[in-house]
Amino acid sequence: MPIHILPAEVASQIAAGEVIERPASVVKEVLENSLDAEATAITIQVEGAGKRLIEIADDGCGIPAFEISLAIERHATSKLTKAADLTSITTLGFRGEALASIASVSRLTITSRPPQADVAARIQVSGGHAGLVEPIGAPFGTVVRVEDLFFNLPARLKFLKHDTTEKRQIDSLVTRYAMAYPQVRFSLRQDGHISLQTSGKSNQREVLAVMYGVETARQMLEVVAEDLDMQVRGFISPISLTRSNRREISFFINGRPVQDTSLSSALLKAYHTLLMVGRYPIAILFIDIHPEWVDVNVHPTKAEVRFRDPDRIFTGIQRAVRRALLAYTPVSGVSDQLHWSNPTSALKTERDWDSNVGSSSGDSSRRSWEQSISFEPPRDQDKTEISPELPSRSGMPVHHIEILRLIGQVACTYLVAEGPDGLYLIDQHAAHERILFERFMAQRSTMVPAQSLLNPAVVELSPAQARALSEQLIHLSPLGFQVESFGLNTFLVRTVPSMLAGIDPAAAIRVVVEEFEEDETPLQAEIEARLVARICKRAAVKAGKILSPEEQRNLLNNLEACQSPRTCPHGRPTMIHISVDLLNRQFGRKGAR
Ligand code: ADP
Ligand code: MG
Repeated sequence: MPIHILPAEVASQIAAGEVIERPASVVKEVLENSLDAEATAITIQVEGAGKRLIEIADDGCGIPAFEISLAIERHATSKLTKAADLTSITTLGFRGEALASIASVSRLTITSRPPQADVAARIQVSGGHAGLVEPIGAPFGTVVRVEDLFFNLPARLKFLKHDTTEKRQIDSLVTRYAMAYPQVRFSLRQDGHISLQTSGKSNQREVLAVMYGVETARQMLEVVAEDLDMQVRGFISPISLTRSNRREISFFINGRPVQDTSLSSALLKAYHTLLMVGRYPIAILFIDIHPEWVDVNVHPTKAEVRFRDPDRIFTGIQRAVRRALLAYTPVSGVSDQLHWSNPTSALKTERDWDSNVGSSSGDSSRRSWEQSISFEPPRDQDKTEISPELPSRSGMPVHHIEILRLIGQVACTYLVAEGPDGLYLIDQHAAHERILFERFMAQRSTMVPAQSLLNPAVVELSPAQARALSEQLIHLSPLGFQVESFGLNTFLVRTVPSMLAGIDPAAAIRVVVEEFEEDETPLQAEIEARLVARICKRAAVKAGKILSPEEQRNLLNNLEACQSPRTCPHGRPTMIHISVDLLNRQFGRKGAR
């Protein structure tokens, strides 16, 4: 083929692909335009995960009628005139590409009326083909309506994620902007349901509460650090409040959301050694620096930036976060935390939030632990049912361990036992996880017995989490959790599995939501097993807990009754075997093979 210039339509679709990757990119660009227009109220309506409709209305400065057809041209902007301006950008937009890009891959309608105009002007563009500008009656401000996104790019449509994911992306994007611009009133509706509503009264903690629920918002620590030329503000979670992924870590540089792994590394460094491996804080940090310190013109979506002096930024973040963490005294913070799960044991210094789930602390933890471990003393019939001679109920191979003689506990973490061929060291947490898991899965084939809570527990979630949970509620009742929607982003837990009586219901539901968040479209069977494994992990007795000889024996007996006693549900070993032969060899005894 000879070289030729691409038709304008194709070229603009290619260019659009860089800016508009998905429905959330449309929301981001249009929202940023409203913020640049100094809107005080922004109303967003989304239908069909943004593929059918995204409509954003603001009360900002509006676009004059004679400029409206220019606004949808590529490289048309009111925010930049010369290259030198690029070094001191204070607006979110400057590339003049967003509206043109959106126009070329959707059916776009812009209606706008500046305060001085008598009527509004409207323009419609479909797949890049613009109609005429017409006058129309409308209130002050701008309404951008984007219908049938990617209707002319079926390939792009196919690459979009599941609707749940796209909706969640929009939720989390808008909530983060609502945090960054608390003086602006935001309202987001998805398919007619309110996902987010803020008052615009500049109260960030209030927005936090909308994001994460009142309880979490109350616990979040405020970061305020200012030096001559850098300001770090925002909120971070105390070490007792963690997540299983980095999704709740976000940064804004000069009011612009930025994805930059080195920023999160700086944050995580500040938490270094304070969090368990695999746990991450929640953080939303706003960094304000001189515009000349940062180059925002390195990426079409403006999500990546380049710093003139990265080390200075990282050190600033680290110092600010570390200071906030230290200012918070562990004891009072922890008692805060425990107050939530168990008001009577405020003095316990157990640090990790997770360890409060299931085995709260102090007396009550002992009670719950006893309940769960000696809940069902191993009955003989249980044993014969899954004895080696008989096939297991599930038809899966059975890998019994030998009958063991308990010797005792070491380091409050391991049980020591003797078998026919040597010594066994058993990890009490992993073993208990395995026991709970198998009981759960066995009960699941019918219906897991549930225990009603005297006082149903109220769980508040972020809009994104609430969405994930409502879409997966059906998976929960067979597991013994009866959970129902209870107003905006709030749920009521009415029952918990009897096996886990004593577990903190709200905390258990949060664990479940985290699992849903990890992967939105798992297989039904898979999701249940994974959920159960996860709940059991949280409910199982922790390492470091002294067990009475009775409890040790129960644990051992129950483990013996398991079908796969050698690993925990996550695949880690529950026990280490040291054979007599190995012992003999180690001691240099004669006769050792
Ligand atoms: P950019 O934001 O990079 O300038 P856009 O394509 O997003 O480019 O928008 C083009 C122009 O349209 C903006 O520079 C602005 O003048 C105008 N505009 C877009 N949306 C709005 C709005 N909601 N209110 C007022 N003006 C707007
Ligand atoms: Mg813009």
